[in-house]
Amino acid sequence: MATNGVNGSATNGDDYEGEFGHGIQVIDENKEFTSTMPEYLTSTNVLQAGFSYHLISVFGSQSTGKSTLLNHLFNTAFPVMSESRRQQTTKGIWMSLATDPNASSNPDEPHLGKNILVMDVEGTDGRERGEDQDFERKSALFAIATSEVLIVNIWEHQVGLYQGANMGLLKTVFEVNLQLFQKDKSTVHRSLLFFVIRDHIGHTPLENLKNTLLADLNNIWHGLSKPPGLETSTISDFFDFTFATLPHKLLQPDQFKLETQRLKLRFREESPTNANYSADGVLDTSKTGVFLPAYHRRIPADGLPHYAGNIWRMITENKDLDLPTQQELLAQYRCDEISVVCVELFDEVVTPFEAALSQKIVQSDLGPAMKTALDTSLIKFKEEAGRYHKVVYKRKLEDLEKKLQARLKVLYVAQLTAAHKNAIAVFADTIQKGIKRSGADFASLVTETRATVLADFTTEAESCSLEGAFSYTDELHAVEKELDEGATRLRGEEMTRLLARMEKSLRTKFTSEDDGVAYMFKTISPSLYPRIWNLFTTGVTDQISLFTQRSTALNATSEENEQAVYKLKKRAWKVLRMILDEETKEQSLITRLMGYFDKDFRYDDQGVPRVWKAGEDIEGTFAKSKETVMKLIPNLATFQLEDSTKPPLATFIGDAPEGVEEEVGVAAEEDEEEDVASPTSTKTFTILTPGRITSLTESFNRQADQAFVDAKRGTISSVSQ
Ligand code: GDP
Ligand code: MG
Repeated sequence: MATNGVNGSATNGDDYEGEFGHGIQVIDENKEFTSTMPEYLTSTNVLQAGFSYHLISVFGSQSTGKSTLLNHLFNTAFPVMSESRRQQTTKGIWMSLATDPNASSNPDEPHLGKNILVMDVEGTDGRERGEDQDFERKSALFAIATSEVLIVNIWEHQVGLYQGANMGLLKTVFEVNLQLFQKDKSTVHRSLLFFVIRDHIGHTPLENLKNTLLADLNNIWHGLSKPPGLETSTISDFFDFTFATLPHKLLQPDQFKLETQRLKLRFREESPTNANYSADGVLDTSKTGVFLPAYHRRIPADGLPHYAGNIWRMITENKDLDLPTQQELLAQYRCDEISVVCVELFDEVVTPFEAALSQKIVQSDLGPAMKTALDTSLIKFKEEAGRYHKVVYKRKLEDLEKKLQARLKVLYVAQLTAAHKNAIAVFADTIQKGIKRSGADFASLVTETRATVLADFTTEAESCSLEGAFSYTDELHAVEKELDEGATRLRGEEMTRLLARMEKSLRTKFTSEDDGVAYMFKTISPSLYPRIWNLFTTGVTDQISLFTQRSTALNATSEENEQAVYKLKKRAWKVLRMILDEETKEQSLITRLMGYFDKDFRYDDQGVPRVWKAGEDIEGTFAKSKETVMKLIPNLATFQLEDSTKPPLATFIGDAPEGVEEEVGVAAEEDEEEDVASPTSTKTFTILTPGRITSLTESFNRQADQAFVDAKRGTISSVSQ
């Protein structure tokens, strides 16, 4: 089938040649648009080329050697009519990638540009019109909407035949061009019409042929009815022209080959920025090459299948076609497609973290992962979608950013919550352990731990903040507040423990065998309670100075200190009163009183037990001893100083500082004994009520009487022996 072109030296390799040996049929004979363009562009490595590709179409009557020309120029394999059976071969529109066998063999030589897609358009048969003409118009529109260069293939002998088929074709091209661009007059879409004059015998120089054609083109242009706004437009507003001739392929095959190889170089890689026009306005493409940037339709290669497909659909549905709208639609479609891929990239990184959200823990490496996911996704989007319609692209980029950020925000908020919880837990734990390590300075422990957990929190929050996109100021303040509340609570607990320890050591002091209350009770005298008062005040004062040292280390406030000191004094008094109550239980007192009595009555002055003899004054001694002891009892009744005044307990304890009254009040309701700790209550200093004194006196009398009876009985028995 192919008479030329396809061979192993094609630069784009073998992979597409099997499946796409003739390229693809973009529009088939049923006027359907192909679905294989994405695969074709992928297999030819054009899909990812961005704007680095070119699109060329060829026009001309049927069987004028168009396919033959393309195959020679671009090393394509478009089907060519065989010499014996003359029939139409190209149906619809074909597309094939140009290759250059010379490029790889001699890279320094000028060679064909890269990624040139060539479209071979079915030509009209000059004889039949109608159906044909309709397709001619549609294919012209399609070609103009997509192609940078339109090769117009024409035989030399057709030049000047103004009424010929070619002129009809050109009129169509101009008309559809006006139709296409009238909606978008601001942008100048230019195209190059490249006239290739075939079977040039040489009698008429190119210059003459060119002038004839230009005159005809201008005539056609003037004859066109222009749409509103474009009445005064000239043909050169839209088109550049360039001309070339080729010798007869069959009569001068070698010349033909040579000339096509030279012609090929007009389609070279370089992309000139300055067009080079001759005096008559014709573009000298031998100097500049054909690919002026202004011709490029600016459709990224990966959007070409969708764009071309849409254009064709609009054309076949006879809808108004304007390229700016098509570009926007394409941008929306492609941006959405690219967005999906970018979200997938994002998902790969982020989904595992989202799945772990339910664990409510601080997720390690979340920050870097968030950043990587967002960056990877957005970079890809910018790279691929950035080539599309700018306004649409920016909007879609914003949409994507918002969407991804919203998902990251959820992770971020959860991370902050977990980090917050963590900070509080670590803080409480560290302080508690620190306290147990005893001797730890609570205040500096709190300061250091607070700083450490806040630094950890900030580091974590910062690493997930996407360089400040997310703020954590509020959360940080919340953590600080909670830490401070925690510190206050822990200090309160510590103060309570401290108070308990102080209370315990006071109790130990008060109950000491050597100099405690019990020891003092060994000597019942008017100075008993004054001595105990002294024990109380010095003991408490010592504890308070110790307490103040410790509470300063706790960083307690002066209010907290005052409250604690007040509590300690009250509790100390309560402890003392309990010890006093214990010591003054009837049985204890009887024992003590009997001790006094026995010392006087049963022992003599030298401490030797008396053996009563008949005639000794038992009654007198008994009465004296009993009286001595009875005199002691009033000393025990009221806790007072030697001058019989009540001790200055109220002054010693001081006024209740703010914040403690209630606590004491509540306790008082629950605990009747609390009454005795109130320095103003009469009960406070009453150790033995009158009733108890009576009862004590009676008990003592009974026991003393018993001692007397025993003594008496002793003398009688000794007498009777
Ligand atoms: P297309 O229909 O325009 O694509 O024409 P083809 O490339 O299929 O060629 C149609 C016929 O013209 C074939 O038989 C070719 O051999 C012949 N042909 C190709 N190039 C030339 C040429 O330069 N001069 C002439 N006279 N015939 C040619
Ligand atoms: Mg053909």
